[in-house]
Amino acid sequence: MIYYKVEQQEDSFRLYEPVRNPEYNRKTESVFAQCNGYLGVRAALEIRQLDESRGTFIGGFYHRAGAHEVTELVNCPDVTEFRVRFNGRPVRLDCGSINHYERSLGTRTGELVSRINFSDGVRIETRRFASMHNKKLFCHEFRISSQEGGALELTTGINGKMTNSGVSHFDRIEARVFENQRVEQSAGGAAGILFGMECGCDDGQLLRIMTVCSAKKAEVRGSFHLERRSIYEDIRQELLPGETWTICRYTLYDTTETSFEAMAAIINKAGVVGYQGLFQRHQEVFEHFWDMATIVIDGASPEEQAAIQFAQYHLAGMVPWESHLYSVAAKGLTGEGYKGHVFWDTEIFIMPFFTLMFPEVSKNLLRYRYHGLIGARKKAAEYGYLGAMYPWEAAVTGQEETPLYAAIDIHTGKAAKVWSGIKEHHVTADVIYGLLYYWQVTGDTEFMEQYGYEMILETAVFWVSRAERNGERERFEIRDIIGPDEYNEHIDNNAYTNYMAYENVKAASHVLKQNTPLIRQYQEAGWEGRFEYFLRHLYLPQPNEEQIIPQDDTFLDKKRLADIGKYRDGDVRQLILKDYSRMQVVGMQVLKQADVVMLLVLLPERFDDETVKKNVEFYEALTTHDSSLSYCVHAEAEARIGEMELAAEFFQKALEIDLGEGYKDSVEGIHGAAIGGILNCILKGFAGVRTGPEGLMFHPHLPAVWKSIRFSVMDHGERKQVTITKNAVEYC
Ligand code: BGC
Ligand code: BGC
Repeated sequence: MIYYKVEQQEDSFRLYEPVRNPEYNRKTESVFAQCNGYLGVRAALEIRQLDESRGTFIGGFYHRAGAHEVTELVNCPDVTEFRVRFNGRPVRLDCGSINHYERSLGTRTGELVSRINFSDGVRIETRRFASMHNKKLFCHEFRISSQEGGALELTTGINGKMTNSGVSHFDRIEARVFENQRVEQSAGGAAGILFGMECGCDDGQLLRIMTVCSAKKAEVRGSFHLERRSIYEDIRQELLPGETWTICRYTLYDTTETSFEAMAAIINKAGVVGYQGLFQRHQEVFEHFWDMATIVIDGASPEEQAAIQFAQYHLAGMVPWESHLYSVAAKGLTGEGYKGHVFWDTEIFIMPFFTLMFPEVSKNLLRYRYHGLIGARKKAAEYGYLGAMYPWEAAVTGQEETPLYAAIDIHTGKAAKVWSGIKEHHVTADVIYGLLYYWQVTGDTEFMEQYGYEMILETAVFWVSRAERNGERERFEIRDIIGPDEYNEHIDNNAYTNYMAYENVKAASHVLKQNTPLIRQYQEAGWEGRFEYFLRHLYLPQPNEEQIIPQDDTFLDKKRLADIGKYRDGDVRQLILKDYSRMQVVGMQVLKQADVVMLLVLLPERFDDETVKKNVEFYEALTTHDSSLSYCVHAEAEARIGEMELAAEFFQKALEIDLGEGYKDSVEGIHGAAIGGILNCILKGFAGVRTGPEGLMFHPHLPAVWKSIRFSVMDHGERKQVTITKNAVEYC
């Protein structure tokens, strides 16, 4: 069940919190966040509550606070909070009763709206959005009225006390008022004085924030006060009974050393246009996105459609539209989870949607990985390998950022060592998979010549040096590895990794047939022969008598977990690690997430339907789906073989990862990969999009109740319209 209430207005949807429930507050802050791909602001209410985690994140703005910390996406100063008093009484959510409460997100506009009526007659209504038109701009409208009228006291400003779970990232914060910088009188608003904050990190990074409060009707007569690491404007206003007082705030965040003067000019212009005008501009830009992205499904329920629009809204909000210097954080720009690091989630789960509809975004993401070759070469060298090995978790420089210790081990009582950064190597082949998908869909040879070939070759060199020779069996093996299923560590020949490495090297071997100065260097160094030898000898686990592809060398010999049901259907994720130590889990046939099934989905041409069916059935029964990356993959696999009831069931579960009833889920941010996975299910699963040398092809399997599905794709730079019904595909 989807937890949020869905309201439809023609082709846009709005999600509402069904009731005010503090247990769900932090989840809703993530789910309803305002994000535009550069700026992300959690949907914490203006009036502070006990159970909240406010957060503002900027794409690519990472910092490491000391040698014992890992680099993380900085939780930046907050501008969303308002402190309110009316006739001397504090207006708060935890004292005084509330007659009406609502907070909602427009999934087509990204606008957050909240309305709260207090029983003493005070009403507050707010709106806010992160502008798609100017991605550094955050716009906020705050309206207040009171039946009795009287003295309103409002305090709002820039709060630089924000931390990432207690860790502060700025070693210098200077706040100031710009007396001579005011937003001028305009049709929709009146003058206000600009104020700002400059925050410096010890590594030289600089964040400037400039903001203004401007009121309708009359000039804001505020005074300013400084608190430690914060600056506030105190506004006093007499309200007539029933009169509504509206404050608009326009805030610019900048990390590119733009001067305050230049920022003031932008804010001035914004102030003249006013909230409504800025919202229109934002919508106009957003509509370009929807023009391309909209997927029309005849037969989908309003809840399904809302969940799909929600997923697309967040996809638009998590990617770098205008930069190739950063990539997608695991939680987008909606929370501190996974420290804002970049995983394989980007290339495998998030990128296909963009490659098919907005290839320029995939190009940015791939260029980011191209810059990351420096870090990837360094990582390979550190472990004694050649070429480039991408980090399991990356931030901005492309070097490995995975923390070394994480959850408590139930036996030792100490934080357990995290092996993913050391042994989870498939990410390197996953990056190349994303690159090859981009190449096939766009035919962008220029990109390949400039960046792509080098990435493919360097990673292929890594795989050749990573593999070990098994003299007895005359083959190459990839030993001591972690595959996508992280419940099986230190295993040999993870099928997913071996096949994906094979594809990586196969691509390199193909690339070496071209003729560029770079390619000649690899040819001269003898790589052609080494790649071909590797391809002939790499061990690719084959289906056994029961047609099961072994996940790794020992998996099929391990014992089954008798009470797996307990861990599959519960509300708590990774409950198994509360009952068993990691070592014990490694000894059992239990999966955290799709692994072999992942492979079947990514390389559809390699495996026939019967093999897919057998393996999906076998592995699903052993999977806890503790990772949010799992259901969408199973949905896609079931769709591929036409098991539409199961496909629909897993698809529904995928839709519920962020929107479902689990109140603890998503607290630390939405699940970027799971959200991308929803689009993978629709496009690659149900519509059956496949890439090939002749362009796109379709092998559709629609869910029983869907009559048709219509969407656009960019095929080799040309926009095409796809319409799929139960018995026909139209592509023009
Ligand atoms: C994840 C790993 C990750 C580690 C540290 C674990 O929960 O499963 O993929 O590397 O946390 O961030
Ligand atoms: C999953 C990984 C994933 C990571 C970030 C982990 O729990 O096991 O596959 O990349 O989360 O989303």
